[in-house]
Amino acid sequence: MKNKIFLFGEWLPMSYIQYTKKLALVDCNSFYVSCERLFNPKIRKKPVVVLSNNDGCIVSRSTEAKALGIKMGEPYFKAKDIIIKNDVQVFSSNYSLYGDLSRRVMRTLKRFNSDIEVYSIDEAFMDLSNFSDNEVEQVGREIRETVLKWTGIPTSIGIAKTKTLSKVANHIAKKKQSGVTSLIGIENLDPILEKIDINDVWGVGRQMTKFYQKKWNL
Ligand SMILES: [Mg+2]
Repeated sequence: MKNKIFLFGEWLPMSYIQYTKKLALVDCNSFYVSCERLFNPKIRKKPVVVLSNNDGCIVSRSTEAKALGIKMGEPYFKAKDIIIKNDVQVFSSNYSLYGDLSRRVMRTLKRFNSDIEVYSIDEAFMDLSNFSDNEVEQVGREIRETVLKWTGIPTSIGIAKTKTLSKVANHIAKKKQSGVTSLIGIENLDPILEKIDINDVWGVGRQMTKFYQKKWNL
């Protein structure tokens, strides 16, 4: 049966899925920096960066380092002046440490829902569809608190009906004190989406950004 899905014992229109899904994207904040900070309390309030293999590029920045204008992926030598002037703490990457802490975070998430999708070392999708619209943000806050308590890693959680929208919600959550944003139950998302930079949307890279900006005068 085309455009139909067998769900709850009956054939339902495919669009039904979109209305029932509540997907959370859990993303660790400045993950590599957060890992280094766990074992080094002295750098908790300082600007910190972590370098890629062979110390070539900056691959993780603390909020303080971001505020100094250090860019993601920037070659280390280019940021060196800012780093020295501001006493930025620099670390070589330690992937066995990050891998271990990543597994601990994912294991903690599985306590809430065993069916998680690990998307990268510091990101996972969780299906929260079994919770009601009103509950879902509170559930997100509980997940965030538990991960922080059990692993020491701060996270941001975005909840929405699709993966792309949960990424958008996560982007908003990162700027919020609570660290959790739910777009579930919001009928018109346009006013929210208008404030999102197009290159912050998943799958829209540098070239596509240029294309869209030209097309719509963004
Ligand atoms: Mg992250």
